[in-house]
Amino acid sequence: MQPHILDHIPDGLLEKPSTALHQQLPGPTLIHIRGQNPQPLVVSVLQHGNEDTGWEAMRSLLKHRYADRDLPRSICLLIGNVAAARLQLRRLDGQPDYNRCWPQSGQADQADNPDPCVQLFHHYTELIRSLRPFAAIDIHNNTGLNPHYSAINRIDWRMIHLARLFSETVVYFTVPHGTLADAFSEFCPAVTLECGQAGNVHGTDHAMDYIEKCLRLPCIDDTPLSSEQTQLYHMLATVYVSPDLKFGFMPEKSTLSFIANLDHLNFHELAPGTLLAYLHGHSSRCLLALDHYGNDITDNCFSFTNGMLRTLRPLMPSMLTPDVRVIRQDCLCYLMERIDPNAPAASIVDNEVLPDALE
Ligand SMILES: [Zn+2]
Repeated sequence: MQPHILDHIPDGLLEKPSTALHQQLPGPTLIHIRGQNPQPLVVSVLQHGNEDTGWEAMRSLLKHRYADRDLPRSICLLIGNVAAARLQLRRLDGQPDYNRCWPQSGQADQADNPDPCVQLFHHYTELIRSLRPFAAIDIHNNTGLNPHYSAINRIDWRMIHLARLFSETVVYFTVPHGTLADAFSEFCPAVTLECGQAGNVHGTDHAMDYIEKCLRLPCIDDTPLSSEQTQLYHMLATVYVSPDLKFGFMPEKSTLSFIANLDHLNFHELAPGTLLAYLHGHSSRCLLALDHYGNDITDNCFSFTNGMLRTLRPLMPSMLTPDVRVIRQDCLCYLMERIDPNAPAASIVDNEVLPDALE
């Protein structure tokens, strides 16, 4: 994998959907686009080939808003996995996940890792670091009915403010390793955007407006906010239904009957005591909540009394689904918990995990 670096957008590129970019780009490509302020904004798109909202937002911005005028600020545009984008796949068989191949912050130099993708991204990272970028935005999509949200890898007020310009809800994570945003957090504020499902115009418009907002920002605020003002969450646990248990959704009566529209609770902070399900003839623990070290924290999260399953502490679920099969095969949901960005760093658990389904 050779670096492919351009100092302008090639003719015709903006006419191409993500599935056709491979016709003009041989692989992961870095394009410098000059703007009035030379300190660049890094915009990363298509690290996952089937997540095209970032590319759609960028080409729409450049075609329709800045076709015949300068950008307010220079952009370093990183276009990721064009080979997978051709087939609308996250990645091809045999390819690594691009968003796991960036230099890991706080670790020794990985320039000697033989993986060609790791080498190339190390090269791009050092090149971009030398440009002292203003900020970095890595744009993704996810599956399922989740709202748009932003994610950060450090508790840093500039990153929190940058993330809040996209969504009120901000998720903090440090695992998985090797993400672009984590690597770039070493030298500039960096955020990951999750723009809902690919192909949704609302996601494209939201991402485009956000990029433009960032291009026009003279500086990034670093004023501390209270924890009430900051909807900052970290991953607490993954929740499973006991394997042999019969379960379903109301009004169907199973041993465990979840309330109807359970998935409407996604990304809502639930007060302690929120009813999630009725237990019929089964009073003991029928869910298992495991933290990311594999510790059973079910009893810290749920109560199973008087035939009802309720929450025990303030929690915010994500990835709840009404699909019984998915629950069986994967999990019921992830649980997030609000964290206080003003708390001493030591009290914020290290190794915050971004659930696999949040991509
Ligand atoms: Zn992704």
